[in-house]
Parts: sequence; C-alpha cells; structure tokens
Amino acid sequence: MGSTTSITIDTYRCSACMTCIEMYPHLFRLNELTEKAELINPAQPVTEEVLKAAAFCPEKCIEIE
Ligand code: SF4
Repeated sequence: MGSTTSITIDTYRCSACMTCIEMYPHLFRLNELTEKAELINPAQPVTEEVLKAAAFCPEKCIEIE
C-alpha cells in the first residue's frame, strides 16, 4: 500500500519480437516511430498479466521496479 511501482520497457533491448503484444494486445502495442513495444497506458499498474509478459519477454526488457 502506498508503494509506487513502475513498469519500464527498455527499448534498447526490445527486439520488437511481438510476444508481449500478441499475449496482451490490450496492454502493449508497437510504437510506430521507434518500432519498439510500449505500454498502452503509461500508468499501467503491475498486474498478473504484466508479470507474465515480463516473464515471457525473451529479452527480459520489461522491467518492474
Ligand atoms: S516481449 Fe520484450 S522484446 Fe518482445 S516486443 Fe515485448 S518488450 Fe519487446
């Protein structure tokens, strides 16, 4: 309670493999300019789905702090 958690996608390491986007298209999308994954909602809370996407990301670049 009261702790702030943030999700960051390290766009340097993201290979745009589309795994997170295919798993949860309501959470992630491809940024058309950078061609890297991004959160649809920048204030996205850490949910079970986010944790799963982070676990499945082959580059381990979905960082939860
Ligand atoms: S799963 Fe990881 S490497 Fe693949 S698009 Fe998503 S953030 Fe990028």
